[in-house]
Amino acid sequence: MEPDIGPERFADANPRPVRDDFLVFGAPLIGQEEIDEVVDTLRSGWIGFGPKCLAFENRFAEYVHAKYAISVGSCTAGLHLVLLVSGIGPGDEVVTTPLTFASTVNAIELVGARPVLVDVDPETQNMSSGAFEAAITPRTRAVIPVHMAGRPCDMEALNDIAARHGISVIDDAAHAVEAWSQGQKIGSLTEFSVFSFYATKNLTTAEGGMVATADAEVAERLRRLRLHGLSSEAWGRYSKDGSPSYHVVEPGYKYNMTDIQASLGLHQLARLEQNLRVRESFWTMYDAAFEPLDIFDLPAPIRVGDRHARHLYTVGVLPSRSRARDELATALRSENIGTGVHFVPIHLHPYYSDKYGYREGMFPNAEHIGRTTLSLPMSAKLSERDIADVIEAVQKVYFGTRNCHRELQERAVTVASHDVTV
Ligand SMILES: *Cc1c(COP(=O)(O)O)cnc(C)c1O
Repeated sequence: MEPDIGPERFADANPRPVRDDFLVFGAPLIGQEEIDEVVDTLRSGWIGFGPKCLAFENRFAEYVHAKYAISVGSCTAGLHLVLLVSGIGPGDEVVTTPLTFASTVNAIELVGARPVLVDVDPETQNMSSGAFEAAITPRTRAVIPVHMAGRPCDMEALNDIAARHGISVIDDAAHAVEAWSQGQKIGSLTEFSVFSFYATKNLTTAEGGMVATADAEVAERLRRLRLHGLSSEAWGRYSKDGSPSYHVVEPGYKYNMTDIQASLGLHQLARLEQNLRVRESFWTMYDAAFEPLDIFDLPAPIRVGDRHARHLYTVGVLPSRSRARDELATALRSENIGTGVHFVPIHLHPYYSDKYGYREGMFPNAEHIGRTTLSLPMSAKLSERDIADVIEAVQKVYFGTRNCHRELQERAVTVASHDVTV
């Protein structure tokens, strides 16, 4: 079967969309437990930072095998605080990847340090350790690898390079709550791991984040800085056991989580492994349906000993025509399928290209991925029927027919139900 890949083909499909209702990209799965817990919090009289945040922190630390977990208002806030407590500022350099959301790099800018971008590996989409090592200068203070799409970075390699050069490792684990690198949990392997609980992430509190660390003293400072710089436990000054008096130890930020958010987080965390198994089965359905079609660069196989958190299923559109990906996204939208782009590489954003003179061509792997990949729906809220709709819509926009691949889909569903990795 020869796919007719030209973007012009994408548009002239059957006028009746594959789905009647729009499939929202990244819609979270919120259960009755979350709803009941939020209602309980709302009725409790204590809706700000409080006991549910602390309970969520404890359970989260246990889950990622971290000594301490400090809840914050977002992953961005967490990255900002971690750079501050690491004493990183003007004159310092921080190495990171161009294939990330802007906030990873914005956090470096916010402390006045210089972000130094290095290209990614074209297969894993993660920072190349060779490129990281080559970018180290006497001013390099930290490296921020990103576990892209949920695929863990090679932490052994990165940690080893960083240790040899006396550099801190702060991993942006926004996609990677459930990931393991060579059998070790992300969250337990570096000075700091920073997680995101944004609405589309694997674990969501609508907005929220968590910093994992093994350093008790730094954990205490993070707790202070996230809440005005108040002395520890001063958050409880309105509670029965708290003292109404409080002291500011240093000027801090307003970066705390609330008990309403933690109410979501407690139950999202409890269902995390179950949701991962659901996404793993969807991943298998996509692989089984797309492999024989030969129209996409599919996600690379997972390294033995690693565990992928299955946050994003990204397909690379072949061949790499500059507009083909966007045309595909538009065509899928008219089939009522929402998709995502991860990411527009950092160096192509005007602020960063203007400030640092970054130009197209400097990070070819990140650029290729940024230009050609599309993220297909991948959420535990979806059903096998939804995934089959996505597959059917892809087939329709490539091959222009509607039902001729139904049999292939049924096969994909069968494969998925037999081939779920636990
Ligand atoms: C979502 C995301 C962030 C930002 O997370 P927030 O919680 O929204 O601040 C940072 N880095 C990456 C890679 C992300 O995908």
